[in-house]
Amino acid sequence: MADRRTESSATRRELNRNVRMAVKRFDLSGTDEETWDFLCECGLDDCQEWVTLQVTEYESLQRMAEPILAPGHTVTEGEKARKLRVG
Ligand SMILES: [Zn+2]
Repeated sequence: MADRRTESSATRRELNRNVRMAVKRFDLSGTDEETWDFLCECGLDDCQEWVTLQVTEYESLQRMAEPILAPGHTVTEGEKARKLRVG
């Protein structure tokens, strides 16, 4: 179901935001160079890839409204459509 896919990708984004918020809130990052694992946001239901990014890299992707993607992964058509509706 298309709805379920949208839901799962929204959950990923939420999870990534939570990682970043936790880092900020508890000041877990000793340095800006420290890296954290974020979930790939390609939109595939069975994607289990994690992407290692610095919080600053994550934030710049968010600013540009770019998805976090594992190497070789691309945003699915469903994700593109969803993004167009939102943004
Ligand atoms: Zn992926």
